[in-house]
Amino acid sequence: MPYCTVCKQYVDYEYDIALTHGDYLHTSCLIKMQMRKDEIEVILRRQGSQLLSSLFVRTEITDEEIISEEKVENLSNELTKLKNTLISIYDFLPNWPPDWNERKLHLIQQNGSICLSCGEERNVYLIHDLPLCEGGTNELDNLELICKPCYEGMYGKGDIFGSFTLKASQSEFSEQVAEIQSAIENKQKIRFDYKKPNAKTWMTRVVVPDRLFNIPNNRDSGETLCVEGFCELRQDTRVFALERMQALEVISEHTELEKYVAIYQ
Ligand SMILES: [Zn+2]
Ligand SMILES: [Zn+2]
Repeated sequence: MPYCTVCKQYVDYEYDIALTHGDYLHTSCLIKMQMRKDEIEVILRRQGSQLLSSLFVRTEITDEEIISEEKVENLSNELTKLKNTLISIYDFLPNWPPDWNERKLHLIQQNGSICLSCGEERNVYLIHDLPLCEGGTNELDNLELICKPCYEGMYGKGDIFGSFTLKASQSEFSEQVAEIQSAIENKQKIRFDYKKPNAKTWMTRVVVPDRLFNIPNNRDSGETLCVEGFCELRQDTRVFALERMQALEVISEHTELEKYVAIYQ
C-alpha cells in the first residue's frame, strides 16, 4: 500500500492524489499545507502593516499583537519551506496546479511575452509541452508560452480558449456545456455520475476537463457531444459523452474544503 510523501501514513486510493512521478499525497495534507501557508502570510502581512503604522502614529499595541523578531524569522523560514514543498508537489500534480498563473508570470519575466512558436511579442498563453495526459509534468521546463494563432494552428480551434459552439440541435446540453466551459477556463474539476454503454450502474467520476467536441456517430447519422479530460479514477485521459452523464457539478475549492472538513472532523 502506498503512503503519503508528506506524513508517511497510508493513503486512500479513492480520495488521495497520485502524483505523476509515482509518489502519493493525502488531499488533507495538501490542504493543511495550503492553509498554513495562507495563515503565515496573513500574520506576516499584518505584522508588516503594524510596524509601518507605528512609525507614524503612536498606538497602544498590546502584547499579543507584537510578535518578536525571532518569531517573525521563524515564520518566514517556515513559509519559505512550505512554498518550496508546495511547488515541488505542484510540479507533479496530475492536473493544472493552483499556481499556474505564477508559473506563467515567471516565464514571462524570464523570456518576455514572446510566443515560442512564431517568436512574436504577443498576448501569450501557458501550455504544457508534453501534455499531462501523455505523462507531462507541470515543471517549468515542460511549460511553454504560445500565442493564440499558433496554438490554433497546431491543435485546431476550440480547445483551451472556450470557443466551442453548441449546435442548435444540442440545446438540451446547454447548461452542462456552460458549466464544463467555465471549469475548463478556470482549471476546475467537474464531478458527475456516468453510465457506460451496456453498464448497469452509475459510477461517480472526477475529471479535469480539457475540451468539448463532437464525435460523429453512425447510429442516427448525428453527432455525440463529448468532453475529454483527465479522469482521477482511471488516472488517464478519457472521453465522456454528455448524454451518459448526470448530476454534473463543478468542484470549487470550497466544496473540496467541505469534503475535507467532513472527513477529518
Ligand atoms: Zn499525508
Ligand atoms: Zn505564435
